[in-house]
Amino acid sequence: MTESPIVPTIPLDAQGVHHGFLKLPHSRDDSAWGAVMIPITVIANGEGPTALLTGANHGDEYEGPIALQELAMSLKPAEIKGRVIILPMMNLPAFAAGTRCSPIDGANMNRSFPGRADGTVTQKICHFIASVLVPQADIVLDFHSGGKTLDFLPFAAAHVLEDKTQEAACFAAMQAFNAPYSVRMLEIDNVGMFDTEVEAQGKVFVTTELGGAGTSSPRTVSIARKGIRNLLIHAGILAGEMEVAETVQLDMPDARCFVFCEVAGLVEYLVELGEHVGEGEPIARVWPSDRMGVQPIECRASRSGILAARHVPGLIKLGDFVGLIAVEL
Ligand code: CA
Repeated sequence: MTESPIVPTIPLDAQGVHHGFLKLPHSRDDSAWGAVMIPITVIANGEGPTALLTGANHGDEYEGPIALQELAMSLKPAEIKGRVIILPMMNLPAFAAGTRCSPIDGANMNRSFPGRADGTVTQKICHFIASVLVPQADIVLDFHSGGKTLDFLPFAAAHVLEDKTQEAACFAAMQAFNAPYSVRMLEIDNVGMFDTEVEAQGKVFVTTELGGAGTSSPRTVSIARKGIRNLLIHAGILAGEMEVAETVQLDMPDARCFVFCEVAGLVEYLVELGEHVGEGEPIARVWPSDRMGVQPIECRASRSGILAARHVPGLIKLGDFVGLIAVEL
């Protein structure tokens, strides 16, 4: 087995606060002996669980990077028991470019796990995280939003798992995060996801979709900030009282939750995020972008529920995702 070329510039197991990088050699035209430097902070105090907190798995999703940088600046070792490993920009090349996928190898990090020590840049980062960081963690929180092309109702999510004890622990952690919505999430394409890797290692895993459209808002960042604090309290790492508000429980029972576009054109949404839609009702219609005198094509919900995610750009392509219809529990 090839060893990871990634070397942390700080100790991962020392007491106190350490800010540094995961240094990945990356020889290229503009820097023959250069490196990809992925920011990391480790805060540790005494015995206790380890939380791994990650953001920018996709480079154009911003609540995680903001809330986790703030946490790294503000969390004091004396406030915790155990360890918090913070990786706000885990996909640093994509984050630096403001893109979902890495501009270096074109890879989608969340389809590249468990990675390869001798692979591309993205595969090497995935391999280090999966083989060095995840095994040290008891609980993992990976921040997502919709990026430039999707927008979501703000939710925390956990997955249905074969191991029901692990599944219960994941759902309890999702409830602790206490986003405005809590989703039992179905993935349409879970091979290679960070989620799948962490869950396969038997860890407690929570993910989020806090907004999107390639930016963040005061509301979505505050949801991230509160969720981190609640989760660290829930994990027994941070002392204090959780801040708990009402959360709407949503389910994604099957693939009928997803609506995809079967035409290209100019999309007009007929339903707002969070609004209820009945089975067979249109959530959007697509006008031609190149001619007059043609009726728009309707995109209909194949089940009733609330619109939990949508496409962002005004133009839509054949095969694009149009909407996620989640079911209220
Ligand atoms: Ca994402």
